[in-house]
Amino acid sequence: MRSYTLRALRRDPDEIDIDFALHGVEPGASVQAGPASRWAARAAAGDRVLLLGPAVADNRAIRFRPPEDTGLVIVWGDETAVPAASAIVESLPAGTRARVWLEVPHAGDIQDLTTEADVEITWLVREEKGGDEGSSPMALDLLRDTLITAADRPYVWLAGESGCVKRLRRHFVRERDIDRRRVTFVGYWRHGVSEEELRTEG
Ligand SMILES: Cc1cc2nc3c(=O)[nH]c(=O)nc-3n(C[C@H](O)[C@H](O)[C@H](O)COP(=O)(O)OP(=O)(O)OC[C@H]3O[C@@H](n4cnc5c(N)ncnc54)[C@H](O)[C@@H]3O)c2cc1C
Repeated sequence: MRSYTLRALRRDPDEIDIDFALHGVEPGASVQAGPASRWAARAAAGDRVLLLGPAVADNRAIRFRPPEDTGLVIVWGDETAVPAASAIVESLPAGTRARVWLEVPHAGDIQDLTTEADVEITWLVREEKGGDEGSSPMALDLLRDTLITAADRPYVWLAGESGCVKRLRRHFVRERDIDRRRVTFVGYWRHGVSEEELRTEG
């Protein structure tokens, strides 16, 4: 069993979209493939898959819960969290201010997102900057140069590779002294560790 985000859900006919970030399936890949990435790379019309998912419209699994007084929404995600972050950005109401940093392997992974909110999105492309497969968040230096004050009443949502998520959380909570209750962070995967190993560790 592996966890994936419903990027979209439609009725009549019932359809869902899931965006799989493939890893380890290209020849000579330096990272291992897992069952989900392997399955997605070969999936064809007619293949069967068993899904367990939320039965209610309010998908709490995304855990995006800004406090009522939030003045600035800050989002960081890597390619595995682009589906969730995109859904968040698209759901933000008009008048909300947001700064979003999304890290992806290739320029072709950049997507056009639509939103009514006042959102500034920065896409960071690892292959262009010589990044090392996501073990260190490219956004960190940019974040350090970004003016965010307590008066912004920020709410931060972070999801992606768990080492990156931890480093960014430390930046917001320790370096910026943002109340930890205003920082939601979720490790979506970890280098060298499969999802069941990650779950066993808790
Ligand atoms: C709530 C939640 C929502 C998620 N939503 C999505 C989503 O919408 N799209 C998506 O692509 N992923 C998503 N993920 C991440 C996905 O579940 C993991 O990447 C998962 O480990 C993939 O399973 P696998 O069978 O391919 O690899 P596993 O068997 O779990 O791992 C095998 C090896 O691959 C490595 N690995 C795992 N993922 C990656 C990666 N992305 N890049 C490089 N190496 C990797 C592991 O470190 C391990 O060494 C989500 C995770 C969570 C918890």
